[in-house]
Amino acid sequence: MREEGAKDFRADLHCHSSCSDGTVSPEGLVALAIKSGLSGLSITDHDTVDAYAVALPAAKKTGLKLVSGVEFSASHRRRGVHVLGYAFNLDSPHIAAWCRQHTNRRRARNAAMLQRLADLDMPVTEEEIPAAAGTVGRPHIAQAMIKKGYVRDANAAFKKFLGEGKPAYVQGTTFSVEETIDVIHKAGGFAVLAHPMLIQRNTIVKDLLQMEFDGLEGYYSRIPDDQERAWQQIAQHKGWLITGGSDFHGDVKPRIPLGCSWVGEETFYLLYDRFLTVTQQS
Ligand code: AMP
Ligand code: ZN
Ligand code: FE
Ligand code: FE
Repeated sequence: MREEGAKDFRADLHCHSSCSDGTVSPEGLVALAIKSGLSGLSITDHDTVDAYAVALPAAKKTGLKLVSGVEFSASHRRRGVHVLGYAFNLDSPHIAAWCRQHTNRRRARNAAMLQRLADLDMPVTEEEIPAAAGTVGRPHIAQAMIKKGYVRDANAAFKKFLGEGKPAYVQGTTFSVEETIDVIHKAGGFAVLAHPMLIQRNTIVKDLLQMEFDGLEGYYSRIPDDQERAWQQIAQHKGWLITGGSDFHGDVKPRIPLGCSWVGEETFYLLYDRFLTVTQQS
């Protein structure tokens, strides 16, 4: 859950705002981070960096240090893999183009999933899906299903209908992990394998560990320390960065508070210094 040896400096490098499937606004996250005693933060929305237009000026007015971040959806052997990007140039055309491709992918995929739900006699219209300002995906469809009384909660929605292999699940267009890593590198950032302890298949893990990642998420959310340790050792062995964060989503995941997982000063400044460098060059 936390990086050993850290003193009072704590940075949460994984959280979601209302620009994707979190319930707290970007400026709300900045305020909450300060209230939670954090010194550093990265907002890692799914497939969008829109939060930074608001969050950067908000953080600048406070003492909070913010480093660019994103959580890209990718796929390997038809399984979903999340790739975290950090410290990339927020103005990079490579990042902008990649986010745009994801928006298009999601638009078609969401429509296909709504069609599946209609076929299952659980119609949901696009207007009934909340948020819609930023990245829209299965969590938003799940919220609409709860509202319409089809399921009790998001967990049930995923377990019965929206999870991989379930009747309303559509994979849609996919992007490879390798090309995702490449985009992050082209934008000057670090590519990090997100929550490796959640990956079910050893063959996938084996492949991923051969890829050009710069780090892995060795401290994740409320995963027990002993389950994280093996991953930290793998990262150490490979000379990779070990990042960490809560995966805070706000009210939709109330048992996961911001800052429940974090990294210390040394790791944070590795990212932060790179962020300042790539930002100054643009
Ligand atoms: P998508 O990006 O549209 O494929 O949706 C995937 C997102 O759904 C993940 O990043 C999680 O935030 C969320 N999610 C996955 N499984 C569950 C679950 N069982 N309950 C609630 N949210 C989930
Ligand atoms: Zn999410
Ligand atoms: Fe994730
Ligand atoms: Fe996440």
